[in-house]
Amino acid sequence: MAAPLDRSATWPYEGGEPARFSYARADHPTGAAVEKELGALDGGEALLVSSGMAAVTTVVLTLLRPGGTIALAEGAYYGHAVLFRHLGPWGVRFVEFDQAGPPPGADLVFLEAPANPLLTMPDFEAAAAHPAPVVCDATVASPLRVRPLEQGCDVVLHSATKVLGGHDDLLAGVLVTREAGLRERLHTTRRLTGMVASADTAWLLRRGLRTLEVRLARQETTARRLVERLAAHPAVTTVRYPGFSFLVSFDVADGEAASRVERALTTIVNATSLGGVTTKIEARHRWEGDRLPSGLLRLSVGLEDAEVLWADLERALSAA
Ligand code: PLP
Repeated sequence: MAAPLDRSATWPYEGGEPARFSYARADHPTGAAVEKELGALDGGEALLVSSGMAAVTTVVLTLLRPGGTIALAEGAYYGHAVLFRHLGPWGVRFVEFDQAGPPPGADLVFLEAPANPLLTMPDFEAAAAHPAPVVCDATVASPLRVRPLEQGCDVVLHSATKVLGGHDDLLAGVLVTREAGLRERLHTTRRLTGMVASADTAWLLRRGLRTLEVRLARQETTARRLVERLAAHPAVTTVRYPGFSFLVSFDVADGEAASRVERALTTIVNATSLGGVTTKIEARHRWEGDRLPSGLLRLSVGLEDAEVLWADLERALSAA
């Protein structure tokens, strides 16, 4: 019934030679089992790594050469730009572009579907026509809603910390590609850098995947109800929702109003991250600064009762 968990870091050779599993930094059975399921979800071959950012690092170290430029979707998860800037001394360059149109000249194209927290969608056709490899972060969509490999992308990336794991109790990242040679190169980077997820993490992720479909369906039903009501609320100036997903962002007047809303909530947790079973809200300006409206609140809808969530939001918005 329950999947096996093998915590070994090393396994005996067979007949004097390494077998399928010999050392856990290369591969371990619990990781390989969840990779099979993740690959099937996205329609490719998956590689599990230690976090979403480890997935981004693995892609960049594998596909970019020093002096190469990444065309990064504007409004994508802010940590991507922060990481690329941090890697500047290693020769990583990046330019941001509006992903609703074609990417500029670059050696690697980095999309996000939909972008967190502005929730824009990429023009997949325009990106696929670009000569450089195309990577798409589909964390906020999940493979149940957007399958970038079918839209011409070379690699799809997820922070499995979010809806794939779903319970805010693991950190992991996933890369999926259809090109066997590319999966092998990504695997080599993972093995050499040691950016592997543990067997415990892989096991928890596999358990999370068993409920992904029902969790996401319920989260979306609740998100749609909250979006309708937020849009009609006088304290809310803008609501962003791509029509699917657990993630919503909306604006109140300014940063101070956003901060009052955060502190007035009682059921909804004022915390970072997204995709889990617990509803969370956060004013993103504190992390992202002026690239976002100061009154933007990011709401990650969980599994609580929709009416309970709305009552909490409505009461907190009266403080906005
Ligand atoms: N991609 C997106 C869209 C995210 O929201 C995040 C984290 O918030 C990441 C990647 C990074 O994932 P992790 O925190 O698992 O490293």
